[in-house]
Amino acid sequence: MSNGVLVIFDQNQGQVRHVVPEILTVARELGVGAVTALTFGVRASETLETLGEYGAAQAVIWEHEPFTRYSSDGFADAIVELVPQVDPSVILFPASAWGKDLSPRVAELLGAGLVTDCLSLRTDANQRVIATRPIYAGKALAEVAVETPIQMFSMRPNINKAISHPVKPQVLDWTPSIGENSFRSVVVEVRQAESGTKEVTEADIVVSGGRGLKAPENFALLDQLAEVLGAAVGSSRPVADDGWVPHSYHIGQTGKVVSPTVYFAIGISGAIQHLAGISGSKYIVAINSDPEAPIFKVANYGVVGDLFQVVPALTEEIRKIKANS
Ligand SMILES: Cc1cc2nc3c(=O)[nH]c(=O)nc-3n(C[C@H](O)[C@H](O)[C@H](O)COP(=O)(O)OP(=O)(O)OC[C@H]3O[C@@H](n4cnc5c(N)ncnc54)[C@H](O)[C@@H]3O)c2cc1C
Repeated sequence: MSNGVLVIFDQNQGQVRHVVPEILTVARELGVGAVTALTFGVRASETLETLGEYGAAQAVIWEHEPFTRYSSDGFADAIVELVPQVDPSVILFPASAWGKDLSPRVAELLGAGLVTDCLSLRTDANQRVIATRPIYAGKALAEVAVETPIQMFSMRPNINKAISHPVKPQVLDWTPSIGENSFRSVVVEVRQAESGTKEVTEADIVVSGGRGLKAPENFALLDQLAEVLGAAVGSSRPVADDGWVPHSYHIGQTGKVVSPTVYFAIGISGAIQHLAGISGSKYIVAINSDPEAPIFKVANYGVVGDLFQVVPALTEEIRKIKANS
């Protein structure tokens, strides 16, 4: 019989990403036992309310030194020490940059199988977890199970619905013996994104631009559209490679994977490597002057036209609608 699910996530000054309530909901709905949540860092205990809201029966919070600064190897060693205390059969991470860094290290140290970037999880008759994940750059979905006693998965954000299920989490008062000297690498500086810049992986609407914008200064058109929509701005890879926008904007196979409700692809051709990062979007809206552009094959809505005319007109119309509502 299973011993429940351990959900491991990062937080920022007491704030959790959208994906955390989503993963807690997935963990609870698996029905393989109680959910324990583990988080780290400065003000981590302020996440307790959210953990309780989404059904974590138990919480483990390490906000003391040396857990105030991220360390791949230090955190991985500490998690491995914790695992026998919780004895989970399933461990879940967000498929964020943080989760993608930490989860394989933990899997290797535990000798556990890890399935990354999962869209959903279910259990079979033997309480074995079956994950659904995209393959071939999002062109197909595979169902995958792992055969190790501990089954590990990382979950793509914005796919699963967060459903409230209030409980009062019990705080497990246990800290690993690991000390500062065990932290062989630490993050020495964290640079905040410019104020007002939304993170593409968290946003409900993403406005993304490609080479069709012709020059970096024309991204101002996308900033204006994003502002009226409350959206994040993203990009195709070549414009990030050419320094038109920060690398944090780059979406696709070699960049970030997004799954917003609405994804605007503006002056983006729709190369397979770009589509790999946007296939989880609920609606794709393409604006492109070439009616044969591959992006129209995947778009739910399309405008064949010059973005330099379409985008300002769209921004203006949305602004008017918002002003009148
Ligand atoms: C190994 C590998 C990994 C890669 N990883 C990624 C990745 O992660 N993400 C990624 O994006 N790419 C990636 N690429 C690059 C990818 O193959 C494409 O080259 C890239 O996505 C094209 O970017 P784009 O759509 O901005 O430019 P283009 O392909 O040049 O498309 C520009 C589009 O703008 C349209 N356009 C031009 N003018 C206008 C106008 N005035 N109004 C409206 N539309 C206009 C054109 O019709 C065209 O469709 C990768 C490539 C390789 C080989």
